[in-house]
Amino acid sequence: MGDSHRLLVTEESGRLARWLRLMGYDVAMGAPRPLAALYRQAYNESRTIITRNRRVQPGRLIRVVHLSSAQLAEQLRQLMRELGLRVEPGQAFSRCDICNVAVEPVEKAAVKDRVPPYVFETQPAFHRCPVCQRVYWAATHYDRARRFFDTLSPRGSGAW
Ligand SMILES: [Zn+2]
Repeated sequence: MGDSHRLLVTEESGRLARWLRLMGYDVAMGAPRPLAALYRQAYNESRTIITRNRRVQPGRLIRVVHLSSAQLAEQLRQLMRELGLRVEPGQAFSRCDICNVAVEPVEKAAVKDRVPPYVFETQPAFHRCPVCQRVYWAATHYDRARRFFDTLSPRGSGAW
């Protein structure tokens, strides 16, 4: 299943949406009002709705996961359990967590003016979001995110 998951997170859970994008999933945001518009978006874009809003109900063609916790780590564990979401090398960190589009490798020289000098000197590779132009490199939130993801997995993740 893995990368076939397309998700629609309601707006109260924006932080969760960003972490799901860091895992590599295609995550749109939606407003729960009006409900009909949320359902239409889920149906038209083949997305599973993820929400804390109990007014949002599953239907014949609409799949809904109600988050049982307000805590991010617990929410991610629930989705890994119920939808089989996973943190996988090659899929994780492939997407801008703000824009929900794939980041692209970028020449080191092209980011010289956009990253701190120490980062430029020490990082071997950079990626850039084609929409917001944000530059990504391994030592920043990647490392932090990896440590966080490792705490979610029962065996840890030595592979990456
Ligand atoms: Zn972006």
